[in-house]
This record gives sequence, C-alpha cells and structure tokens, in this order.
Amino acid sequence: MNTPVQKPNKPGIEPKPHTQAFWEAANRNKLLYQYCLDCQTPQFVPSSVCRKCHQKNLDWRESSGQGSVFTYSIIHRAPNAAFKDDTPYPIAMVDMAEGFRITANILNCPPERVYIGMPVWVIFETRDGSDYKIPQVEPAE
Ligand SMILES: [Zn+2]
Repeated sequence: MNTPVQKPNKPGIEPKPHTQAFWEAANRNKLLYQYCLDCQTPQFVPSSVCRKCHQKNLDWRESSGQGSVFTYSIIHRAPNAAFKDDTPYPIAMVDMAEGFRITANILNCPPERVYIGMPVWVIFETRDGSDYKIPQVEPAE
C-alpha cells in the first residue's frame, strides 16, 4: 500500500526585535535596508548596531529593488526535501543600487541564463507555513 509522502515546507521566518520592521515591510512587497546616520553606510542584513562604526543610530530606508548579480552558484543538491523539486536552481549575491548586497534565490530564471552583472529586481516569495514573504530576485530583462 502506498502512503502519500507529505512534502515538507521550506523554512519560514521568525522575526527578532531588530528585524520585525524588515519582515513586516517584506509582507508589503518592500525591501528595507539599514542606513547608519553616524557613518553614512548602508548595511544588510538588519542588525541592532552598525557593522562599520558600531553605533546604534540606524535608519530604515526602502530600496528601489534594483540590483545586479555580483556572483552566483547553481544549487544541484537540495539542502532539504522541500527544495528538491527546485533543483538545479541559481542563488546569487546581488549588489543593490543603494550600495548594499543581498543573497537571494534567482526565481523565474533557468540556471544557464544567469551571468555576472545580470540586472535583477526584487520580488517577494510566499512560502507555505510562513507568515512572512521572502525577498528574492528575478531577471529584470
Ligand atoms: Zn556606522
């Protein structure tokens, strides 16, 4: 007798006090980053202090969502069963127009299409079992 196999959910999000605003904005399809008002440096991922000057005078700013691929890799072996149907898939470090870098999956893009410098923009992935959308990217051209 065959028993249906329940496919596990991809990991969800559990916001921390210093990331709550970020995840709530993501649910409104907005990518926020932090900007240090003391040393004028953008930073990502969100933190409670500036990674450059260690001050706490951080402001939330909204990204245009536009960036380009700094580097990438193709995932052939899924990190867990929830990603198995997606393989092979591209994941990239993306330089955003505002001067910070994110790591994201490149959705809606066959792996052979990805190249360094490829223009991308942020989209927001809804995952089963997660209360928060996940910022990802897709080709902008
Ligand atoms: Zn700073």
